[in-house]
Amino acid sequence: CYILVLYFFFLLVCQRLTFSCLTTGPKGMPHWSKQYPFCGGSFQSPIDFYRDIIQFTSSLKPIEVMNYNLSSTVLYTLSNNGHSVKMSLPSSMYLNGLPYRYSATQLHLHWGNKYSSKGSEHTINGKRFAAELHILHFNSERYPSELIAMDKSDGLAALGVLIEIGAFNPAFENIVKYLQNVKYRGQQFPIPGFDIEELLPPRLDEFYRYEGSVTTPPCYTSVIWTVFRNTVKISREQLLTLQTSMYYTQKDEPAPLEMMDNYRHTQEPGDRIVFITFRQGIVLSLILAGALGALVVIAIVCFVLQRNRAKKQTAEIKGIIYKSTPSKDEENPKI
Ligand SMILES: [Zn+2]
Repeated sequence: CYILVLYFFFLLVCQRLTFSCLTTGPKGMPHWSKQYPFCGGSFQSPIDFYRDIIQFTSSLKPIEVMNYNLSSTVLYTLSNNGHSVKMSLPSSMYLNGLPYRYSATQLHLHWGNKYSSKGSEHTINGKRFAAELHILHFNSERYPSELIAMDKSDGLAALGVLIEIGAFNPAFENIVKYLQNVKYRGQQFPIPGFDIEELLPPRLDEFYRYEGSVTTPPCYTSVIWTVFRNTVKISREQLLTLQTSMYYTQKDEPAPLEMMDNYRHTQEPGDRIVFITFRQGIVLSLILAGALGALVVIAIVCFVLQRNRAKKQTAEIKGIIYKSTPSKDEENPKI
């Protein structure tokens, strides 16, 4: 019985780890589609990566980031574009591992608010992470600029990095420490270059890949998304600075509006498939659950067999006792 209870406990833990609740996104942005029809259409981003739309593939190449280590002697523009904090990137930075060469244009972040550490755009099985970094690239093999490429079906490629709360992150500090200089919409500030690769998780060969859109208007469906499986960590203080430093509004506006919850809610996947380059924990958990289930059945069978054997033995002992106890007549046989 103890074995059974133990197995059921393991099963429950397994289920708990495997099937997190599917939750819907936060408040939407329905007014976008009135002015920008693409925002109300299909192939939109972000989406929730849930098991029904995920498919493993071994045919995708790992992402390789080229010239990501920017010199600290060169300055790059940090700005508040009214949606996020944005850092301009040189087109000398590019990606390998996609059908074309994609050159970098900018990076920016999405986050929640000081009361909620849930601000990522993409979610995994309904789980929203603390924040999300996007590094945007354009197809420099086919188009001369981001502006020309942005509405083409193969025009853009974005890297997505899911961010969780953890240890202080020195790479992210290269941006976070300058947020005070771009508090208001339209403000810009020059910051020194740093190794952009240090903003990424260690394994660039494990990711979710799908075709989607830019997550702000005009929501063009032109993005090959690569969202890394592994997260990066920033400290609670760094996240709080991100959540509380900036405004959607310009400096002289009478009613300042804090920049918070600047993430778009998840969109319908339609009949899209999200390809993954790694074996899912779900699959392993299901295999584990199956194996544990088999063990439970074996344990039950063993238990029943053992009980039957015990009953049989008890019956045999009773029989032996009955047979071996001589009667008074046998002890004193009549002659
Ligand atoms: Zn973004």
